[in-house]
Amino acid sequence: MPEFKTLKYHVSDSRVATITLARPGKRNAQDTHLLYELNDAFLAASRDSNVKVIILAAEGADFSAGHDLGEVDWQENWANSDRTTGWELTDGKGVEQMLIREKEIYLGFCQQWRRLPKPTIAQVQGRCIAGGLMLVWPCDLIIAADNAKFRDNTLTLGVSGVEYFAHPWEVGPRKAKEMLFTADWLGAEEAHQRGMVNHVVPLDELEDFTRTFAARIASRPMTALRAAKMAVNAAEDAQGRGAAEETAFAYHHLTHAHNREVYGMELDPTAMEAATISTSKLAPNKREK
Ligand code: ZN
Repeated sequence: MPEFKTLKYHVSDSRVATITLARPGKRNAQDTHLLYELNDAFLAASRDSNVKVIILAAEGADFSAGHDLGEVDWQENWANSDRTTGWELTDGKGVEQMLIREKEIYLGFCQQWRRLPKPTIAQVQGRCIAGGLMLVWPCDLIIAADNAKFRDNTLTLGVSGVEYFAHPWEVGPRKAKEMLFTADWLGAEEAHQRGMVNHVVPLDELEDFTRTFAARIASRPMTALRAAKMAVNAAEDAQGRGAAEETAFAYHHLTHAHNREVYGMELDPTAMEAATISTSKLAPNKREK
Protein backbone atom coordinates (compact mmCIF):
# COMPACT_ATOMS: atom_id res chain seq x y z
CA MET A 1 0.00 0.00 0.00
CA PRO A 2 1.46 3.40 -0.99
CA GLU A 3 1.95 6.10 1.62
CA PHE A 4 -0.57 8.92 1.29
CA LYS A 5 -0.05 12.52 2.36
CA THR A 6 -3.38 14.06 1.40
CA LEU A 7 -5.74 11.26 2.38
CA LYS A 8 -6.23 8.37 4.78
CA TYR A 9 -6.92 4.78 3.80
CA HIS A 10 -8.46 2.09 5.95
CA VAL A 11 -10.00 -1.34 5.35
CA SER A 12 -12.51 -2.62 7.91
CA ASP A 13 -13.31 -6.16 9.00
CA SER A 14 -16.50 -5.90 6.97
CA ARG A 15 -14.35 -5.58 3.82
CA VAL A 16 -15.12 -1.91 3.27
CA ALA A 17 -12.26 0.39 2.25
CA THR A 18 -12.64 3.98 3.40
CA ILE A 19 -10.66 6.67 1.60
CA THR A 20 -10.79 9.94 3.56
CA LEU A 21 -9.69 13.23 2.03
CA ALA A 22 -7.43 14.83 4.63
CA ARG A 23 -6.79 18.45 3.73
CA PRO A 24 -9.39 19.96 6.07
CA GLY A 25 -7.36 23.15 6.45
CA LYS A 26 -7.90 23.69 2.71
CA ARG A 27 -11.49 22.44 2.87
CA ASN A 28 -10.19 19.40 0.96
CA ALA A 29 -9.40 21.44 -2.14
CA GLN A 30 -7.91 19.23 -4.82
CA ASP A 31 -4.41 19.92 -6.04
CA THR A 32 -2.60 17.69 -8.53
CA HIS A 33 -1.00 15.66 -5.77
CA LEU A 34 -4.32 14.87 -4.05
CA LEU A 35 -5.96 13.76 -7.30
CA TYR A 36 -3.14 11.34 -8.12
CA GLU A 37 -3.20 9.99 -4.57
CA LEU A 38 -6.95 9.58 -4.75
CA ASN A 39 -6.62 7.72 -8.04
CA ASP A 40 -3.96 5.48 -6.49
CA ALA A 41 -6.17 4.79 -3.47
CA PHE A 42 -9.20 3.95 -5.61
CA LEU A 43 -7.10 1.57 -7.71
CA ALA A 44 -5.52 0.00 -4.63
CA ALA A 45 -8.97 -0.70 -3.17
CA SER A 46 -10.14 -1.98 -6.50
CA ARG A 47 -7.23 -4.41 -6.81
CA ASP A 48 -7.48 -5.65 -3.21
CA SER A 49 -9.52 -8.86 -3.26
CA ASN A 50 -10.30 -8.34 0.44
CA VAL A 51 -12.19 -5.12 -0.38
CA LYS A 52 -15.75 -5.32 -1.65
CA VAL A 53 -17.08 -1.76 -1.21
CA ILE A 54 -15.31 1.61 -1.23
CA ILE A 55 -16.39 4.69 0.76
CA LEU A 56 -15.07 8.13 -0.18
CA ALA A 57 -15.27 10.44 2.84
CA ALA A 58 -13.71 13.75 3.86
CA GLU A 59 -12.31 15.23 7.07
CA GLY A 60 -13.53 18.53 8.44
CA ALA A 61 -16.62 20.67 8.02
CA ASP A 62 -16.74 20.56 4.22
CA PHE A 63 -16.46 17.71 1.76
CA SER A 64 -14.50 19.64 -0.88
CA ALA A 65 -13.99 23.22 -2.02
CA GLY A 66 -13.16 21.97 -5.52
CA HIS A 67 -9.97 22.50 -7.44
CA ASP A 68 -7.20 24.20 -5.50
CA LEU A 69 -6.87 27.51 -7.35
CA GLY A 70 -3.96 28.35 -5.05
CA GLU A 71 -1.78 25.66 -6.64
CA VAL A 72 0.50 27.96 -8.62
CA ASP A 73 2.87 25.16 -9.66
CA TRP A 74 0.18 22.97 -11.16
CA GLN A 75 1.93 22.70 -14.51
CA GLU A 76 5.21 21.48 -12.97
CA ASN A 77 3.35 19.26 -10.51
CA TRP A 78 1.54 17.59 -13.34
CA ALA A 79 4.71 17.19 -15.39
CA ASN A 80 6.35 15.48 -12.38
CA SER A 81 3.37 13.23 -11.63
CA ASP A 82 3.13 9.59 -12.54
CA ARG A 83 1.12 10.46 -15.63
CA THR A 84 -0.98 7.61 -16.90
CA THR A 85 -2.26 8.72 -20.29
CA GLY A 86 0.89 8.18 -22.31
CA TRP A 87 0.71 11.65 -23.83
CA GLU A 88 4.01 13.45 -24.18
CA LEU A 89 4.48 16.80 -22.52
CA THR A 90 4.19 19.42 -25.20
CA ASP A 91 6.26 22.60 -25.32
CA GLY A 92 3.60 24.30 -23.24
CA LYS A 93 2.45 26.65 -25.95
CA GLY A 94 -1.12 26.82 -27.14
CA VAL A 95 -4.01 25.09 -25.43
CA GLU A 96 -2.97 21.48 -25.99
CA GLN A 97 -1.13 20.82 -22.74
CA MET A 98 -3.94 22.11 -20.58
CA LEU A 99 -6.41 20.03 -22.56
CA ILE A 100 -4.30 16.89 -22.10
CA ARG A 101 -3.85 17.52 -18.39
CA GLU A 102 -7.56 18.08 -17.77
CA LYS A 103 -8.39 15.09 -19.93
CA GLU A 104 -6.29 12.94 -17.62
CA ILE A 105 -6.76 14.25 -14.11
CA TYR A 106 -10.35 15.50 -14.38
CA LEU A 107 -12.42 13.81 -17.08
CA GLY A 108 -10.20 10.73 -17.31
CA PHE A 109 -9.94 10.06 -13.56
CA CYS A 110 -13.70 10.62 -13.08
CA GLN A 111 -14.60 8.23 -15.88
CA GLN A 112 -12.18 5.66 -14.46
CA TRP A 113 -13.62 6.00 -10.95
CA ARG A 114 -17.18 5.59 -12.28
CA ARG A 115 -16.09 2.31 -13.88
CA LEU A 116 -14.27 0.84 -10.87
CA PRO A 117 -15.46 -2.77 -10.66
CA LYS A 118 -16.74 -2.41 -7.08
CA PRO A 119 -19.56 -0.39 -5.48
CA THR A 120 -18.45 3.08 -4.37
CA ILE A 121 -20.22 5.35 -1.89
CA ALA A 122 -19.62 9.08 -1.36
CA GLN A 123 -20.17 10.26 2.23
CA VAL A 124 -20.78 14.00 2.05
CA GLN A 125 -21.03 16.74 4.67
CA GLY A 126 -20.97 20.50 4.35
CA ARG A 127 -20.09 22.20 1.11
CA CYS A 128 -19.27 20.35 -2.08
CA ILE A 129 -18.26 22.83 -4.73
CA ALA A 130 -17.48 22.43 -8.46
CA GLY A 131 -14.52 20.00 -8.54
CA GLY A 132 -16.10 18.47 -5.41
CA LEU A 133 -18.97 17.31 -7.60
CA MET A 134 -16.38 15.47 -9.67
CA LEU A 135 -15.54 13.35 -6.64
CA VAL A 136 -19.10 12.45 -5.63
CA TRP A 137 -20.76 12.04 -9.03
CA PRO A 138 -18.53 9.15 -10.20
CA CYS A 139 -19.55 7.20 -7.07
CA ASP A 140 -22.41 4.72 -7.36
CA LEU A 141 -24.23 5.93 -4.25
CA ILE A 142 -24.23 9.23 -2.34
CA ILE A 143 -25.09 9.55 1.36
CA ALA A 144 -25.46 13.19 2.39
CA ALA A 145 -25.57 14.80 5.81
CA ASP A 146 -28.51 17.14 6.28
CA ASN A 147 -26.08 20.09 6.08
CA ALA A 148 -24.60 19.02 2.73
CA LYS A 149 -25.01 21.35 -0.21
CA PHE A 150 -23.75 21.22 -3.77
CA ARG A 151 -22.78 23.89 -6.25
CA ASP A 152 -21.11 24.34 -9.64
CA ASN A 153 -19.92 27.95 -9.77
CA THR A 154 -17.60 27.52 -12.75
CA LEU A 155 -19.77 29.66 -15.02
CA THR A 156 -18.99 32.58 -12.69
CA LEU A 157 -15.33 31.93 -13.65
CA GLY A 158 -16.14 32.11 -17.35
CA VAL A 159 -16.23 28.39 -18.18
CA SER A 160 -19.16 26.19 -19.09
CA GLY A 161 -19.24 23.80 -16.13
CA VAL A 162 -16.86 21.39 -14.42
CA GLU A 163 -14.74 19.13 -16.63
CA TYR A 164 -16.72 15.99 -15.73
CA PHE A 165 -20.05 17.20 -17.05
CA ALA A 166 -22.63 14.88 -15.51
CA HIS A 167 -25.18 17.51 -14.47
CA PRO A 168 -28.00 16.44 -16.84
CA TRP A 169 -27.71 12.83 -15.66
CA GLU A 170 -27.47 13.73 -11.99
CA VAL A 171 -30.23 16.33 -11.55
CA GLY A 172 -32.10 16.38 -14.89
CA PRO A 173 -31.58 18.78 -17.80
CA ARG A 174 -33.68 21.71 -16.58
CA LYS A 175 -32.18 21.81 -13.08
CA ALA A 176 -28.74 21.30 -14.66
CA LYS A 177 -29.19 24.52 -16.61
CA GLU A 178 -30.36 26.38 -13.50
CA MET A 179 -27.37 25.12 -11.49
CA LEU A 180 -24.98 26.25 -14.22
CA PHE A 181 -26.62 29.59 -15.08
CA THR A 182 -27.12 30.75 -11.47
CA ALA A 183 -24.38 28.89 -9.53
CA ASP A 184 -26.98 28.53 -6.77
CA TRP A 185 -26.64 25.87 -4.08
CA LEU A 186 -28.47 22.57 -4.36
CA GLY A 187 -29.39 21.44 -0.84
CA ALA A 188 -29.19 17.84 0.34
CA GLU A 189 -32.97 17.46 0.50
CA GLU A 190 -33.56 18.70 -3.05
CA ALA A 191 -30.62 16.62 -4.31
CA HIS A 192 -32.36 13.65 -2.71
CA GLN A 193 -35.69 14.50 -4.33
CA ARG A 194 -33.98 14.72 -7.71
CA GLY A 195 -32.34 11.31 -7.34
CA MET A 196 -28.78 12.59 -7.06
CA VAL A 197 -28.50 11.59 -3.39
CA ASN A 198 -29.62 8.21 -2.02
CA HIS A 199 -30.13 9.12 1.64
CA VAL A 200 -30.03 12.26 3.78
CA VAL A 201 -29.14 11.67 7.41
CA PRO A 202 -28.36 13.91 10.41
CA LEU A 203 -24.74 15.07 10.37
CA ASP A 204 -23.83 13.26 13.59
CA GLU A 205 -25.14 9.98 12.15
CA LEU A 206 -23.46 10.29 8.75
CA GLU A 207 -20.41 8.15 9.41
CA ASP A 208 -22.24 5.35 11.23
CA PHE A 209 -25.05 5.25 8.70
CA THR A 210 -22.64 5.06 5.75
CA ARG A 211 -20.48 2.43 7.42
CA THR A 212 -23.49 0.20 8.20
CA PHE A 213 -24.94 0.76 4.73
CA ALA A 214 -21.62 -0.17 3.09
CA ALA A 215 -21.20 -3.27 5.28
CA ARG A 216 -24.67 -4.46 4.25
CA ILE A 217 -23.74 -4.13 0.57
CA ALA A 218 -20.39 -5.81 1.22
CA SER A 219 -22.24 -8.89 2.51
CA ARG A 220 -23.62 -9.54 -1.01
CA PRO A 221 -21.91 -11.68 -3.66
CA MET A 222 -19.07 -9.76 -5.34
CA THR A 223 -19.69 -11.06 -8.83
CA ALA A 224 -23.34 -10.05 -8.75
CA LEU A 225 -22.51 -6.62 -7.27
CA ARG A 226 -20.02 -6.00 -10.05
CA ALA A 227 -22.42 -7.17 -12.72
CA ALA A 228 -25.30 -5.06 -11.36
CA LYS A 229 -23.12 -1.96 -11.32
CA MET A 230 -21.90 -2.49 -14.86
CA ALA A 231 -25.45 -3.15 -16.07
CA VAL A 232 -26.72 0.19 -14.70
CA ASN A 233 -23.69 2.00 -16.11
CA ALA A 234 -24.35 0.37 -19.47
CA ALA A 235 -27.92 1.69 -19.42
CA GLU A 236 -26.62 5.26 -19.00
CA ASP A 237 -23.93 4.70 -21.60
CA ALA A 238 -26.55 3.44 -24.04
CA GLN A 239 -28.32 6.78 -23.57
CA GLY A 240 -25.18 8.55 -24.75
CA ARG A 241 -23.68 9.59 -21.43
CA GLY A 242 -20.06 9.10 -22.51
CA ALA A 243 -20.51 10.93 -25.82
CA ALA A 244 -22.26 13.82 -24.03
CA GLU A 245 -19.38 14.05 -21.52
CA GLU A 246 -16.84 14.27 -24.34
CA THR A 247 -18.83 16.98 -26.13
CA ALA A 248 -19.21 18.97 -22.91
CA PHE A 249 -15.47 18.63 -22.26
CA ALA A 250 -14.76 20.09 -25.71
CA TYR A 251 -17.08 23.03 -24.95
CA HIS A 252 -15.34 23.45 -21.58
CA HIS A 253 -12.04 23.87 -23.43
CA LEU A 254 -13.62 26.21 -25.94
CA THR A 255 -14.36 28.54 -23.01
CA HIS A 256 -10.83 28.12 -21.59
CA ALA A 257 -9.39 28.95 -25.04
CA HIS A 258 -11.72 31.94 -25.41
CA ASN A 259 -10.58 33.32 -22.04
CA ARG A 260 -6.93 32.84 -22.96
CA GLU A 261 -7.39 34.70 -26.21
CA VAL A 262 -9.31 37.58 -24.65
CA TYR A 263 -7.81 37.80 -21.12
CA GLY A 264 -4.53 35.83 -21.31
CA MET A 265 -5.69 33.36 -18.66
CA GLU A 266 -7.95 30.32 -18.62
CA LEU A 267 -10.61 31.95 -16.46
CA ASP A 268 -12.50 35.20 -17.05
CA PRO A 269 -11.27 37.83 -14.54
CA THR A 270 -14.23 40.11 -15.19
CA ALA A 271 -16.64 37.31 -14.29
CA MET A 272 -14.55 36.52 -11.21
CA GLU A 273 -14.71 40.08 -9.97
CA ALA A 274 -18.43 39.60 -9.70
CA ALA A 275 -18.03 36.25 -7.99
CA THR A 276 -16.80 35.44 -4.52
CA ILE A 277 -13.41 33.97 -5.39
CA SER A 278 -10.46 36.34 -5.19
CA THR A 279 -8.47 36.71 -8.40
CA SER A 280 -5.32 36.92 -6.27
CA LYS A 281 -5.65 33.17 -5.77
CA LEU A 282 -5.47 32.51 -9.47
CA ALA A 283 -2.51 30.72 -10.95
CA PRO A 284 -0.93 32.97 -13.57
CA ASN A 285 -0.81 31.67 -17.07
CA LYS A 286 2.74 30.38 -17.07
CA ARG A 287 2.55 28.92 -20.53
CA GLU A 288 2.49 32.41 -22.05
CA LYS A 289 6.03 33.09 -20.86
ZN1 ZN B 1 -10.83 23.25 -16.99
